[in-house]
Amino acid sequence: QQLTAVVPAAGIGSRMAADRPKQYLHIAGKTILEHTIDRLFSHPAITRVIIAISQTDPYFASLPLANDPRITVVDGGAERADSVFAGLAAIDDENTWVLVHDAARPCVRLNDLERLVEAAIRSDSGAILAAPVRDTMKRGCQQINGLQGIVSTVDRNNLWHALTPQMFKVKQLKDSLQHALKEGAVITDEASALEYCGYIPQLVKGRSDNLKVTQPEDLALAGFYLEQLMK
Ligand code: C5P
Repeated sequence: QQLTAVVPAAGIGSRMAADRPKQYLHIAGKTILEHTIDRLFSHPAITRVIIAISQTDPYFASLPLANDPRITVVDGGAERADSVFAGLAAIDDENTWVLVHDAARPCVRLNDLERLVEAAIRSDSGAILAAPVRDTMKRGCQQINGLQGIVSTVDRNNLWHALTPQMFKVKQLKDSLQHALKEGAVITDEASALEYCGYIPQLVKGRSDNLKVTQPEDLALAGFYLEQLMK
């Protein structure tokens, strides 16, 4: 079975406060986006990647990726879900499976990709990589003096960090995203759209080093993980 991956890469990465969107920062020899795409193609069944980039993106065209025949580029949207939707629209056969993977997660391992694909194709409503929560989780509240107080401790038993890739049938994901967005649901990953529609996607335990590079301190860690992984 040949699989397609959609990579939303149209974010501006404001939390990184760098001179360019985080997916174009260099670590371990190339841009984060190039590492991410290499990781996806390390899975033999993934033969096509659709990348959603900003219409005003000045960086992508100068990467070797721009000439890779396995890659399709589409215009991203205002929110991550819009970028994913634009990528899905470029897939003709809606009965196939699709993996959605953040451009900013360059450290995903082949073994996790393999286990995700196996779990998803056995499921009714797709599957996501996720890592069990290790820390104690607090719910905060804003206090009048601008301080953050603690309201309660959230039970971390059966609480997971949602990672990517997340893998679904194209039609089920498209219909779910459309419905959830129309109803104004808060959608920060693909699974949340399916959950909103009453489906039960599967959790596949993934490695916690599949981090989303978000803040400046994540760069050194991602660089370290990538060097380990490329050995
Ligand atoms: O901002 P955040 O870290 O949640 O972004 C996750 C992924 O979604 C990143 O790869 C980012 O480039 C992408 N994104 C997008 N379109 C947007 C916002 C984010 O493709 N409008």
